[in-house]
Amino acid sequence: MTAPTAPAPLPPSVALDLEGRTALVTGAAGGIGRACALRLAAAGAKVRAVDRDATGLKRLTARATGLAGTVEPLVLDLTDLDAAEQAAAGTDVLVNNAGLQLVRPLEKFPPEVFHTVLTVMLEAPFRLIRGALPHMYGQGWGRIVNLSSVHGLRASAFKSAYVSAKHGLEGLSKTAALEGAPHGVTSNCVNPGYVRTPLVERQIADQAAAHGIPEDRVLAEILLKDAALKRLVEPHEVAEAVAYLCTPQASFITGTSLALDGGWTAH
Ligand code: NAD
Repeated sequence: MTAPTAPAPLPPSVALDLEGRTALVTGAAGGIGRACALRLAAAGAKVRAVDRDATGLKRLTARATGLAGTVEPLVLDLTDLDAAEQAAAGTDVLVNNAGLQLVRPLEKFPPEVFHTVLTVMLEAPFRLIRGALPHMYGQGWGRIVNLSSVHGLRASAFKSAYVSAKHGLEGLSKTAALEGAPHGVTSNCVNPGYVRTPLVERQIADQAAAHGIPEDRVLAEILLKDAALKRLVEPHEVAEAVAYLCTPQASFITGTSLALDGGWTAH
């Protein structure tokens, strides 16, 4: 079976006006975070772009020239949890996106990597939400979007830390939705299948080793095996879903998980 190619880029489909709003996006130097930062800046937001990758943030800032809003880079390693919480103060929109992956069987999974994955992908989002809520509650409006994954809803072998972190993030997001509702704050997850980003490109070799197959069979036989739509989803498609959750039309959507998984969880 040949995988269909990516669709042609489409113009933004969601009318979103974030002029005067501040948005914090973590992992903004990478594939999905970068697309989200640019999408929110195009909607007029002042985007606080957080990442540990200073070079990637520089490239993002250059790319954002001429948009309605601005991108302000903040080089930060999210394992510094106190700094993460402080960075979130005063934001109207919080996109918890930064993540990392290691594909390894449980009995060989390094405990220190498990700890780092949980810190960056679950504890840092908790601290960022904690830092953002006082301002959101104070003004009676806020949007929290958590980049979960199909792996927040389903497990895959050899991804113990990632699956644990994403399942935890689902719980955190729902709890934030319940607590935030009386204050005009919504919290939702966006759950992509495999997205065309460096995070996926980097795991091809590990997947091949873990499953004992050549690298050129990983896409069709492992990554896209459970999806009905046999293609990777593009970062800008994910950013559109994030943008939609920030529109006035989405104000009744909270505590949910929006799957962009090509039918994976229809099984
Ligand atoms: P990516 O590797 O392209 O980008 C991730 C970014 O996070 C990088 O810029 C990296 O520098 C940053 N980051 C990692 N650790 C950090 C830390 N300690 N401090 C600060 N920044 C840090 O990944 P991506 O594919 O764009 O993934 C973004 C999010 O989307 C992740 O949460 C990921 O789990 C999720 N996701 C990705 C896919 C996919 O197929 N790519 C699918 C579902 C969900």
